[in-house]
Amino acid sequence: MDYEREREEMVRTQVEFRGVTDRRVLDAMRRISREEFAGEKYRAGAYEDHPLSIGEGQTISQPYIVALMTQLLRLSGKEKVLEVGTGSGYQTALLAELGGEIYSVERCGKLAQGAAKVLERLGYKNVRILAGDGTEGLKEYAPFDRIIVTAAAPKVPEPLVEQLCEGGIIVIPAGSLHSQELQVVEKKNNKIHITNHGGCVFVPLVGRYGWQENEI
Ligand code: SAH
Repeated sequence: MDYEREREEMVRTQVEFRGVTDRRVLDAMRRISREEFAGEKYRAGAYEDHPLSIGEGQTISQPYIVALMTQLLRLSGKEKVLEVGTGSGYQTALLAELGGEIYSVERCGKLAQGAAKVLERLGYKNVRILAGDGTEGLKEYAPFDRIIVTAAAPKVPEPLVEQLCEGGIIVIPAGSLHSQELQVVEKKNNKIHITNHGGCVFVPLVGRYGWQENEI
């Protein structure tokens, strides 16, 4: 497997070609070995143009969607960022390459542990992974400059809005269980502005301010 060549091709044909222009995002994607985050038996497909299975019924999003969501966060490198839905830790690694301080919450303890291990092995020091219900945010570390939710929400969880700084941004897929809109939520003068950035399909956000177990 020539992962380096595949990675370069992925960035060029799947991400740049479709219109992601943030140089820092593109360069960071060129530095991250996506195959490290895929389960052993899915490694060969790590750079393909679709979501990738990571076990426990969960997936790493398609590379283009990861890039687009990260670009929408407009990270300068100094922000305190909350991620909800660590999964494999691939998106977390991208945030860590670009942001100041990353907190990531994962509902499934086994996935949280696995991601923490990979990120540690790859040498990321500005990341903290916590197991728990991310729909409640992380009160003890709030407020956050940026929040990214990588699972599908019925609507923007209220605690996340509360824990967002003035001038902050939330990127979140919101809608039904089967299809969502990628939304950017901005807090300005304590008011919320929402813009839509295209359709997407994510696994459900399950928790107190997300979908309930009996709904999915
Ligand atoms: N960003 C991940 C992909 C995440 S898939 C990556 O790059 O690999 C969505 C993840 O959200 C799943 O791992 C799922 O377990 C998690 N999740 C769902 N509901 C959650 C909640 N309430 N709090 C935290 N994590 C949640």
